[in-house]
Amino acid sequence: MNKPMKLTILGATGSIGMSTIDVMLRHPDKFTAYALVGHKNATRMAELAAKVHPELVVMTDEDAYAALKGKLPQDVKLAFGMDAAEAASAHDDVDMVMAAMVGSAGLPATLAAVRAGKRVGLANKECLVTAGRIFMQAAKTYGAEIVPVDSEHAAVHQALAGHDRDSVTRIILTASGGPFRQRDPKTLRDVTPAEAIAHPNWSMGAKISIDSATMMNKALELIEARWLFDAKAEQLSAIIHPQSIVHAMVEYRDGSVLAQLAMPDMRSPIVYAMQAEPRLESGIPWLELAQTQPLEFQAIDDERFPAMVLVKAVLAGEDSLAIAFNAANEVANQAFQDGKIGFMDIVATVESVMAKTNNLYVKSLEEVWSFDAEARQLAKDLIRIC
Ligand code: NAD
Ligand code: MG
Repeated sequence: MNKPMKLTILGATGSIGMSTIDVMLRHPDKFTAYALVGHKNATRMAELAAKVHPELVVMTDEDAYAALKGKLPQDVKLAFGMDAAEAASAHDDVDMVMAAMVGSAGLPATLAAVRAGKRVGLANKECLVTAGRIFMQAAKTYGAEIVPVDSEHAAVHQALAGHDRDSVTRIILTASGGPFRQRDPKTLRDVTPAEAIAHPNWSMGAKISIDSATMMNKALELIEARWLFDAKAEQLSAIIHPQSIVHAMVEYRDGSVLAQLAMPDMRSPIVYAMQAEPRLESGIPWLELAQTQPLEFQAIDDERFPAMVLVKAVLAGEDSLAIAFNAANEVANQAFQDGKIGFMDIVATVESVMAKTNNLYVKSLEEVWSFDAEARQLAKDLIRIC
């Protein structure tokens, strides 16, 4: 029998991290943990470490690291900081890294995994949005395999498998439309963070739930798809599908369209990223189409979701625009969660920051961080004014 695959889970205490652990524990003969990496949630990490028994726990927040001392099973080592997270990703014993930190904070540890030639399950879409070119180049150079965990991209991956890439005419991502798909646009100003986080179909972390409500999530996913599948802007599109059963479609030159369907539960794309074939049980409910709501599709209303208009300029432009788009959104999303700006100000902030950003090709990680910092500062200045 093959040895179990050893994983490092970046963002282990989050929604994707915990679903990964759920899948892992269903298949103890197939998967074990080398390291669990978390940020601030020491209590949850102590619970997870007791359940999973990794060799190492890393906390990137100093207080959480201090709080965990003496709280882990005796044989579990504890380390602090982003350097330790990078080392946990690149460690020789690790076969696969699940990249599930949120935001561009996940970039260094995920890139460390790529540069160590690991199999990388990529949930953290912000990595590819900000540094897609550098990531994909590094994957080629170091022989790393990047497998999508985002449900739409996992669906595209499955609909592409075994088919001729040159025959693809369109990649179509589905979007649920979030909690405000039908709400009167005039009332969107008054939306609260709790309302925006309450996604109708998916249970996810706060940031991505708000991104779904603004449709920034779909915009980021189009950029993610561009890098993952080496797609041209004109091949990429999105459509609203409120039931979140069809996750994406690939259209071929002959008019044939291949779709992937599953109940909306991230354990399905997670298990697929961990082992594509033969398929493993994921624990998600079976899809009973005769018992579900009819499957509906509709065009995305640009007026309600201006993020989808902005992303067209990003897809047509150079890398600096994507970096600014993501960084400004991270700042504005957090400011909305903190009650500093209104819901409609999120995308407005992104738009203003993009208008002030030069459209430039980006070659190095230093340049990525410099554009990222500049956009964050611009967004913060705007938020202070509004
Ligand atoms: P979450 O908020 O539930 O968890 C985020 C994780 O990142 C936590 O473990 C947290 O400790 C860690 N983290 C937060 N800030 C950090 C920092 N500054 N440094 C280091 N670690 C930090 O988020 P999530 O919903 O699990 O999403 C994680 C990623 O996966 C995001 O990029 C998201 O877009 C993507 N994703 C999530 C889903 C989903 O269903 N939740 C689906 C598709 C893609
Ligand atoms: Mg998605």
